[in-house]
Amino acid sequence: MPLHVTLPDGSPLELPDGATALDAAKAIGPRLAKAAVAAAVADGGSRAGASGGDGAGDGSASRLVDLSHELQDGDRVAIVTLSSPEGVDILRHDCSHVLAQAVLRLWPDTKYAIGPTIENGFYYDFLFAEPISDAEFPLIEEVMATIVAENLEVHREELPRDEALETFRDLEQPFKVELIEDLPGEQTISTYSQGEFVDLCRGPHLPSTGRVGKGTFKLTSLAGAYWRGDEHNAQLTRIYGTAFADKEALAAHLEALEMARQRDHRRIGRDLDLFSFHEEGPGFPFFHPKGMRLWNAIIDYWREEHQKAGYEELRTPQILRRELWERSGHWDHYRENMYFTEIDGAPFAVKPMNCPGGLLIYKSRRRSYRDLPMRWAELGQVHRHEMSGVLHGLFRVRYFTQDDAHIFCTPEQLEDEVTAVLRFMLHIYADFGFSDVRIELSTRPPDSIGTDEMWANAEDALRHVLEREGTEYQLNPGDGAFYGPKIDFHIRDVMGRSWQCGTIQVDFAMPETLDISYTGADNEEHRPVMVHRAMLGSIERFMGILLEHYGGNLPTWLAPVQVLVLPVADRHAGYADDVVQALSAAGLRAELDDRSESVGKRIRDGQLQKVPYLLVVGDREEAARAVSVRARGEETGSVPIEEFVAEVAREVAERRLPEVSQA
Ligand SMILES: [Zn+2]
Ligand SMILES: [Zn+2]
Repeated sequence: MPLHVTLPDGSPLELPDGATALDAAKAIGPRLAKAAVAAAVADGGSRAGASGGDGAGDGSASRLVDLSHELQDGDRVAIVTLSSPEGVDILRHDCSHVLAQAVLRLWPDTKYAIGPTIENGFYYDFLFAEPISDAEFPLIEEVMATIVAENLEVHREELPRDEALETFRDLEQPFKVELIEDLPGEQTISTYSQGEFVDLCRGPHLPSTGRVGKGTFKLTSLAGAYWRGDEHNAQLTRIYGTAFADKEALAAHLEALEMARQRDHRRIGRDLDLFSFHEEGPGFPFFHPKGMRLWNAIIDYWREEHQKAGYEELRTPQILRRELWERSGHWDHYRENMYFTEIDGAPFAVKPMNCPGGLLIYKSRRRSYRDLPMRWAELGQVHRHEMSGVLHGLFRVRYFTQDDAHIFCTPEQLEDEVTAVLRFMLHIYADFGFSDVRIELSTRPPDSIGTDEMWANAEDALRHVLEREGTEYQLNPGDGAFYGPKIDFHIRDVMGRSWQCGTIQVDFAMPETLDISYTGADNEEHRPVMVHRAMLGSIERFMGILLEHYGGNLPTWLAPVQVLVLPVADRHAGYADDVVQALSAAGLRAELDDRSESVGKRIRDGQLQKVPYLLVVGDREEAARAVSVRARGEETGSVPIEEFVAEVAREVAERRLPEVSQA
């Protein structure tokens, strides 16, 4: 009896009894059959949506299966190829098996534990008889390539529990035995074998090792890992690898990795003497003089723009009574991330957020509808406890400066205020060189406070703004905060990485819990709408993003040292000093390098310090009251000193951006 299955586009397909997923692919077309690596199958009545798509809709569970999987009448079938993320994930999983097989060929006494896929790759945990290092990677990769070239067929087998146990006991693989022992009951256990290698595995897998392809994988690093993540267990060696559908995609990924390594802001921070971290304050960055120059360049700009945009600035204390944090809800929802202390025997907390402090200022006097909207910004230093394991340079720290603002307005003013913030935000990002901004609107979650009407009004306001401004955005239904809907801003850097920096959040909760109001035209007291807003997010983290985006070659208006003056010989020191004076008088950050090193060496050092302009001054320059200019590594000739100063001052005033190189 033939069987009938349904394809993703809804069309029916008739297949002979006992047909496999591969047969279905063949029936659709030879090209698809050749590209197929697995299939997504769902029982009749539901939808097999695993070949991409958002999976939204009926929520049916389709499962990935091998191409050798026998189809049932009524199945819905989607063929998976390497052009889908699911397909590449299967390839990565195959790579982990090939890695384990290679390791066992090289060191037969090795015990293998688990080998899952991860973002961009895979790993496998091993217990080696003798420790190995990454010096062995080329050797392991070579054996892996051999296994791929052997094009071993991959077999799935379903074994009774006892038989599976026996298999791995015979192989003297205690970790696999332990995993099976922990599986409940009498269920059958699936194993996958390729050549002499067998692994406990749910699958699916590629039909043969050859399908992994040539030059598609690379081992990347080695780390210690405890069996089952428990430090009381054996310490294993984890080998990480990366793999892609083809060698071009792998090469592009490796290039991006190398670029990210070169541009690591921790490395730039050290090389350019911007900031450091110390044992005495784990997760607390220390900013050096040059780091503070960059910091202040960011802040000066920020202040100027906020003033133009009609903001006032606040400053509120670091430490406030615990009772305030209990009232604001932070004690209930955020206690784990807060630091506490005592003053005169009373409990206090270090602020993790600026809002409650700002609200105390709001309450310090009567507010009238005439005062609204009020836009109050605060560069507030906040402390939040992070686990030591997640600390990462300036990206994950335990104190940071939030470029916070709170806007208090009437419900009628909300739309205009959000419009202004949206435009302001995009303008600020563009000035820093980020014009690729992704925007998300998150709406009411199931567990939320506030009335239906409040939510509908606020969500409508946010949506109207985005639509009226012609802004593309992604809707995240149910992803808002419990206290109100929000718009999030993600900027994309030159390496294609996305960073959530800005947020606009409407808050129904805090005006209630801290009881703030204004007197309306009707002489009655009303609750204002409160909007929390951050643009750069954390100034520290944003500095890290800037440093990596520009690879340290910051726009001149941000560069800690904008101009470095190099006298050719001692006798030019006086003139070099005049040049520095002229630059400083124009508000530029200029320095003198009069070390007794050769000019060539000092030029190289200046370039390593990523100084935008290097000026060489010798006899000819002094005679002509001129400077010989090297602009970002390029010799641009000799210009009169006044002309140079005026030109760079203009570049800084206009906040011109350099070309962003990908290398
Ligand atoms: Zn597996
Ligand atoms: Zn806030």
